[in-house]
Amino acid sequence: MRKGAAAEVLSGWSHRHVIDLAAFSLADYTTVLELAQRFRAMPVAGARRLPALQGRLMTSLFFEPSTRTRSSFELAARRLSADVQSFSPSSSSLSKGESLLDTARTYVAMGTNVLVVRHRCAGVPHTLARDLDRCGERVAVLNAGDGLHSHPSQGLLDLFTLARHFAPEHPSPAALRGRRVVIVGDVLHSRVARSNLWALTACGASVVLCGPPTLLPAGFASFVDAPPPGQLQDPVAERGTITIHRSLEEALPGADAVMTLRLQKERMHQHLLTSLDSYHRHYGLNHQRLALCGRPVPVLHPGPVNRGVELAGELLDDPRHNLVEEQVRNGIPIRMALLYLLAAGEGLKAA
Ligand code: ASP
Repeated sequence: MRKGAAAEVLSGWSHRHVIDLAAFSLADYTTVLELAQRFRAMPVAGARRLPALQGRLMTSLFFEPSTRTRSSFELAARRLSADVQSFSPSSSSLSKGESLLDTARTYVAMGTNVLVVRHRCAGVPHTLARDLDRCGERVAVLNAGDGLHSHPSQGLLDLFTLARHFAPEHPSPAALRGRRVVIVGDVLHSRVARSNLWALTACGASVVLCGPPTLLPAGFASFVDAPPPGQLQDPVAERGTITIHRSLEEALPGADAVMTLRLQKERMHQHLLTSLDSYHRHYGLNHQRLALCGRPVPVLHPGPVNRGVELAGELLDDPRHNLVEEQVRNGIPIRMALLYLLAAGEGLKAA
């Protein structure tokens, strides 16, 4: 990208870290989507890399398993010519009692510019970013999923996927205005759902949540009504609505898109479901149920999918509806955009 064009893109960007989409304005979503669209159009596979992050180092600190997010961030960094290193908790000095902050500072001392952090506890990326700032370290923290709290890059890639579906040539937040997006499943345990609630309502979509009360408490209807603790005001002036339905028969009519969520078995400590069979009977999506939307609509899932539970196998394999692989593809340009904004932004400001 030309230096002038880069400076223009970066001029309105004010985030040193990306922890939570609650802090994103409409202009932030526009910037990320525009950049991702440019990166997606560039032939950057194999040896044809963009030089944008040459000399920068991204370190991934993953304390929870990941198939998509980690490799997508690493690929994104490489496509921008950054160096990449990854940390594996079991063979690190954390097992000898080193604190997370000292571990992070060790990587910063090696030259890390961006730390991509996933942790099973909500708040770890935020605390790490705050403590690194306090120590005067010039490093950006990118949250790659923390407990039930937030998964911003997934929320952004879902937004990008929907925006590209509705407006392939110009996938901006406006493409979502007035759309009815149904999110079905284990909302309670889903950081993906929380990030999507911020992103979709910011763009003016009407979000319909659907699930049993054990996995979808009624309080989610007011999820975006107040900014989270520590954030004085909502950067978005007017948000779309959130409504809750307990059955797909009520939720699906008129939908423009359906997002299914994984049942997070590893986070369910009580018997929140009578059985997986019963869940599939009531909330599993199949062709017949999807027809309730009244028109052909796209189906999303952040993965990994419990095949035959959230989604019937035939629907998951049906390219006429399924955007799951498209989500994975779009994850790379979205993460390139985030890395670019955080790492190149620091460089350009310093230059
Ligand atoms: N991969 C996503 C996450 O890490 C979704 C999931 O695991 O269900 O949150």
